[in-house]
Amino acid sequence: MMTETDQSQNLLQTARNQFNNAADFLGLEPGLRKVMLTCKRELTVNFPVQMDNGSVEVYTGYRFQHNVARGPAKGGIRYHAQLTPEDLRALAMLMTWKCAVADIPYGGAKGGVVVDPKKLSQRELENLTRRYATEISLLIGPDTDIPAPDINTDAQTMAWIMDTYSMQKGYSVTAVVTGKPINIGGAEGRSEATARGVQYVIREACREKDINLEGARIAVQGFGNVGATIARLLMGDGARVVAISNTNGGIYNPEGLDLKNVTIYNQEHHTLAGFPNADKITNQELLGLDCDILIPAAYENQLTGANAAQVKARIIAEAANGPTNTEADRIFQDKGIFVLPDILANAGGVTVSYFEWVQDLQSFFWNEAETNRRLNTVMSKAFSEVHNIAQERKVDMRTAAYILAVGRVAEASLTRGIYP
Ligand code: GLU
Repeated sequence: MMTETDQSQNLLQTARNQFNNAADFLGLEPGLRKVMLTCKRELTVNFPVQMDNGSVEVYTGYRFQHNVARGPAKGGIRYHAQLTPEDLRALAMLMTWKCAVADIPYGGAKGGVVVDPKKLSQRELENLTRRYATEISLLIGPDTDIPAPDINTDAQTMAWIMDTYSMQKGYSVTAVVTGKPINIGGAEGRSEATARGVQYVIREACREKDINLEGARIAVQGFGNVGATIARLLMGDGARVVAISNTNGGIYNPEGLDLKNVTIYNQEHHTLAGFPNADKITNQELLGLDCDILIPAAYENQLTGANAAQVKARIIAEAANGPTNTEADRIFQDKGIFVLPDILANAGGVTVSYFEWVQDLQSFFWNEAETNRRLNTVMSKAFSEVHNIAQERKVDMRTAAYILAVGRVAEASLTRGIYP
């Protein structure tokens, strides 16, 4: 088992390796590489929160902006007890590339608070969120840096941030965050957007690889918003979800799981363990199952040199950010596994965040069908652009996605020039 520190260093190291690989292909000069490898702004805040029992706790929060050459900074806020600045540097960088792959006019950011939100009451969580929002209001704003949900945060978290920011301004600023509830300026379809984006690129990949999605066996690591929604959407395409897991482990049935009942069981028992008609499996076992499509939809750094050789899937669709390290990537290439990299596969979330922001700025809202249609256009275009580069340059899909993204950001930086 790796320690948390090892994992976060690996995530940053993986992100840097992936960037350097693309930079070599593009022949980027050293100065520009240095700029693009560095976070532009890193804000750390330590702030007090009054707890329900009257005591005061001090929490640490961050907001990091990686690069804003192509537009305002954009990225999620996560609440996690093991959150580190190294993780955030990597995750902010991934956001820059993700926005560039989808060709939406944003740079990359990430933020969060070092906290296990499950240990807080709703009131404590609201107080923590509002105070954190106040502390990072130095950076956030509809023209500067626009947060969104990430691990352990949701539409309610965004509503509190939006309200706090608006109270300080004296008027409602809906476009300061995305992923809000629909009744206060959220976009129809945003909560399912990441999963839908994954579904759209999986469809493209299946067409390309001649895999029939109908009947395809799917294993999903993660049963949060993204993992659970992907499983449901792919079942709608006729696929068979054979395994699913959460942090405590998962369940497997080669004939396919009854997802409706799995969802009900999970809500009632807060675990998947003990679900009838399925074998109990660990998260590690899930990754090595005999399946057609493997979808890591949980945490970073899950597929490593230690387990990549066991993977049997034909396609890996990275719904999570940074689930595969450099060593595992090499093994997948040798095995001929078609990897849909995170910065392509999970770009649907931030794409619909962009649609939400555009709608807020115009106070003109679309319906869900319109959102999904436009999302499909963006994801299909991104897939074919990445795939064309992969074929032309004879590289894997991740390298191709990075060549596209890093190339776009480099071009913007060169066009703008170095100030002063
Ligand atoms: N947290 C999501 C991600 O990692 C969404 C970010 C956003 O919508 O700004 O892509």
